[in-house]
Amino acid sequence: MNEFRDRTEEQHDGRFPGHGDGTRCAHAGLPEPVPGAPFLPGPVFAAPYHLDPRHGPASAPNGYGRPDNPTRRLLEAAIGELEGGECRVFASGQAAVTGLLLAVLRPGDSVVLPADGYFSVRAFATETLAGNGVRVLLAPTAGPYPSFDGVRLVLVETPANPGLDVVDLPALAERARSAGALLAVDNTTATPLGQRPLDLGADLVVASGTKALTGHSDLLLGYLATRSAELLGRLTAWRTATGAVPGAFDAWLAHRSLATLDLRLGRQSANAEALARLLAARADVSGLRWPGLADDPAYPVASRQLRRMPGVLSFDLGSAERVARFLEASRLVAAATSFGGLHTSADRRAQWGDDTAPGFVRLSCGVEDSVDLVADVAAALDAA
Ligand SMILES: *Cc1c(COP(=O)(O)O)cnc(C)c1O
Repeated sequence: MNEFRDRTEEQHDGRFPGHGDGTRCAHAGLPEPVPGAPFLPGPVFAAPYHLDPRHGPASAPNGYGRPDNPTRRLLEAAIGELEGGECRVFASGQAAVTGLLLAVLRPGDSVVLPADGYFSVRAFATETLAGNGVRVLLAPTAGPYPSFDGVRLVLVETPANPGLDVVDLPALAERARSAGALLAVDNTTATPLGQRPLDLGADLVVASGTKALTGHSDLLLGYLATRSAELLGRLTAWRTATGAVPGAFDAWLAHRSLATLDLRLGRQSANAEALARLLAARADVSGLRWPGLADDPAYPVASRQLRRMPGVLSFDLGSAERVARFLEASRLVAAATSFGGLHTSADRRAQWGDDTAPGFVRLSCGVEDSVDLVADVAAALDAA
């Protein structure tokens, strides 16, 4: 039995059990109403706070800005409600993922990482973890997975960025549990409305809040969530020691954005479905992946596991030159990396050194009207 599994059986339905996603998002993390106070209190900018001269830091919740910030704590309450666990936010998704890996893994430990997931995590593993004496095993998201015997941590990304494969989380959680390994799930692409990994047996959720969670392309954020008090304590201590915290203004902007998460994801997912149907019917597009298409290899698991389909698709236009012509011809698809924002964007991943084909594109649907987006993408493909 793993020492971190102390509270996994508990149910975590937040303050609005049985309510819909829109209601939960609009109210997530808000304090109780106080006459004369705003719905979401403004950002608290402070490095040190006043202390009680006699009783010191024990006298008040806030002492110094690295461990303590009330704006950050409200955001953590909000994300924690949506994920169904206790949350700690970080300065970026990378700060959260690398914090998790460094806080949990010791020299001699083995970790399983996705072979087809976010490439910066793999780069960190070969450059830093391997140098720390951690054995790194890579597994494709859709499997096969190696034996978890002697493995300390299994980190998966599902749906994976950028390839959009998925893995059956309850089945993987069962395998990890019987081997005594921790299971962490990168929930960036799905968001907590698309999938609740802690309900599906994971010990930890890690994610970038830079993408669809906050969705306005104006900040960097990461978070970890867990139901284990022991893991939470270790990760909180790690964050305080290393200082990878977001600023108060970014935390406030992120919280403000969460209220519309349900609305944004609804439109993004509908747009992805409309574009998937367009792209599937075109002979000049290959390798289309969207887990919501009935003939996609990910569909059997995705349709069981995801509460809603992501607003991201991937496909191949054959060459870098054709991708450039497509982006130049489109009026609505911005050439940009990242994903999950209000504005539709597309990224040729190979230009960042990612190990994808030269014409491979990850397209992220914004909240534009589907009919406009489909017409624009069709015309840009014709022109390309
Ligand atoms: C973007 C991303 C990260 C890193 O997040 P940042 O906020 O850019 O640091 C980690 N995992 C996945 C799946 C991502 O898409």
